[in-house]
Amino acid sequence: MEIEALYQKYKACNKLSTDTRKLTEGSMYFALKGENFNGNKFVDEAFKKGAMYCIVDETSACINNNCLLVDDTLTSLQELAKHHRNQFNFPIIGLTGSNGKTTTKELIYSVLSTTYKVNATQGNLNNHIGVPLTLLDFADDLDFGIVEMGANHQKEIEFLSSISQPDYALITNFGKAHLEGFGGIEGVIKGKSELYDYVKANNKTAFINTEDNKQIEQISGYNKIVTFGSKPENDCIIDFVNADPFVKVSFKNTEIQSHLIGTYNFSNISVAIAIGNHFNVSTENIKKGIENYQPKNNRSEIIEKDSTKIILDAYNANPTSMLSVLKNLKQLSAKRKFLFLGDMFELGEEAHIEHQNIVDFAEENFEDNIYLIGENFFGCKTNTSTKKFKSFDDLQPILKTLELDNSTLLIKGSRGMALERLLDAL
Ligand code: ATP
Ligand code: MG
Repeated sequence: MEIEALYQKYKACNKLSTDTRKLTEGSMYFALKGENFNGNKFVDEAFKKGAMYCIVDETSACINNNCLLVDDTLTSLQELAKHHRNQFNFPIIGLTGSNGKTTTKELIYSVLSTTYKVNATQGNLNNHIGVPLTLLDFADDLDFGIVEMGANHQKEIEFLSSISQPDYALITNFGKAHLEGFGGIEGVIKGKSELYDYVKANNKTAFINTEDNKQIEQISGYNKIVTFGSKPENDCIIDFVNADPFVKVSFKNTEIQSHLIGTYNFSNISVAIAIGNHFNVSTENIKKGIENYQPKNNRSEIIEKDSTKIILDAYNANPTSMLSVLKNLKQLSAKRKFLFLGDMFELGEEAHIEHQNIVDFAEENFEDNIYLIGENFFGCKTNTSTKKFKSFDDLQPILKTLELDNSTLLIKGSRGMALERLLDAL
């Protein structure tokens, strides 16, 4: 089927859905296939719920004239998104990076939407399905669209950039995340820099954090850049004030107090300020945008239970983010500190050494009360005072016996560890 014909049908629908459980009347249903499901099997249900058209890639799923048979539904979804994107007159801001993409995306959204009509990636929909769905959700009357792009292997960012075609691009950082798929840190830098390759090839603009030498290195020789950071020669100058525990920054003689913990959030906040500044958002609105943003979904949240303060960062973990959080915790003035650290996934061959590095850093910098959870941490060499558990279930029985009054707890681990379970168990 011609893409333009498919596009006309898409325009006739009021929504697009890939999940019949959430499908609403008048939608276009895309029957995608996953490891454990085949959307072609749900066409009947889609029509019962009021779908206007069903896009399928199995002949047997073509049950009436409103079923449109294509070679591959995923490819069609991606092509449709690209076609839709080509109709936009407003700029797209595309971002990737190892850590902090969602936080940064939400901060940019919070700043820009004080002044403009903006839409952005919902939650973490940042992959080969999420990026097309994000773009297809953008109406044509926006001032800006913000697209988060995630990757765990080479060529993924190149592909997602070819669909989203960002006018403005930024990389939050290059860190030790998804080392397995990328092939080590050099692989991460190469893979994420595919966004810069897109920018250079298409004469687009990149926002560059000049505190990050790797960003400067990767963009060197290209001039269409907007620089930010604390150096006076930057296009946008932002200074770190403190993080006690929430990050406070200073911009144009105005102090901005965020609700984000962790010095690492300084760079996330800086991006949002630099973008707001570049697009003429007033300092007052930039301040409002940053100060009104509250982290969600177990990302760097602070929870207070009686006299206990819990830093809940159980959304995800990798060696870079783990080390940043530990360094930050070290600086906090709290008297008693408890560490609950869960395994970091997707590290491939480097898993053992990276877990051992974290253990060594933790033991050097924190007296005791170090609790390690998961097979990887369990396999590390530790001091006798460090407690390690193969699984969350093994840890659970001792939790109720802990004296946590007047202490600060850090909870951090990979998504698969789901350490937010500790909140109920404590
Ligand atoms: P994902 O790959 O799941 O999409 P993400 O890049 O969108 O992740 P966030 O969801 O914003 O990242 O943050 C996840 C966690 O990463 C945070 O809870 C925090 O621990 C850590 N983190 C956030 N920003 C940074 C940063 N600039 N540097 C290092 N670690 C960070
Ligand atoms: Mg994300």
